[in-house]
Amino acid sequence: MRLILFGAPGSGKGTQADILASQFNLEKISLGDILRKEVGKGSSLGMEVKQYMDKGELVADDTVRGVIAANLRDDNFILDGYPRNRKQAETLEGILEEKNCSIDAFIYLDVSQATIVDRLSKRRVCPKCGTIYHLDSMPPKEDNLCDQCGAGLEQRDDDNPETIKKRWDVFLENSKEIFDFYKQKGLFVSVDGGKPKEEVLEEIRGKLQNKKILT
Ligand code: AMP
Repeated sequence: MRLILFGAPGSGKGTQADILASQFNLEKISLGDILRKEVGKGSSLGMEVKQYMDKGELVADDTVRGVIAANLRDDNFILDGYPRNRKQAETLEGILEEKNCSIDAFIYLDVSQATIVDRLSKRRVCPKCGTIYHLDSMPPKEDNLCDQCGAGLEQRDDDNPETIKKRWDVFLENSKEIFDFYKQKGLFVSVDGGKPKEEVLEEIRGKLQNKKILT
């Protein structure tokens, strides 16, 4: 199974990708996570992408193409955060053609702007193991400490009001053309991402079954 998960920052892509990956034995390929690791390492790629990430802008297409091509295998994966615009979708087609495979479904998590702002401004992440929390709906058991590994939780640098607004604008600007691209291919699946995560998962499963991608 080869899936793309698409949605605004804070739509729950990462959370759903983790669940789908473990339920269906898929490799989760999160471009944002890969890029953040490079920034953390201070690699030349990390230094190049940091300036974009800090401003909430998309990293140059040619740069992310290489990262995706190096991390993508030919089956059993879920892409989280790539592609984000039509050009990237076309690039991905080319990468997959070289591997003689294609995408089964493009899943869009539909969430309102108000929900996004709430989720991102109250999101906290564990810098060590990557577990994601929300101060109201998924708080850690102990204040500001990760339940899984005990590390101190952090707020992502780009989860500040100004950058959140910029990331939302970038998302809106790119979404129509990428939706059209996958609608024309009959791969577009829209899911209400504003519901609790268990219900979102059920809706995704149901829609993949309707499309005969899941049995
Ligand atoms: P995310 O963790 O998915 O919210 O991504 C965080 C940041 O990483 C974005 O604001 C971009 O700067 C960069 N990024 C993630 N995915 C992409 C992509 N497909 N193309 C370009 N930049 C990306």
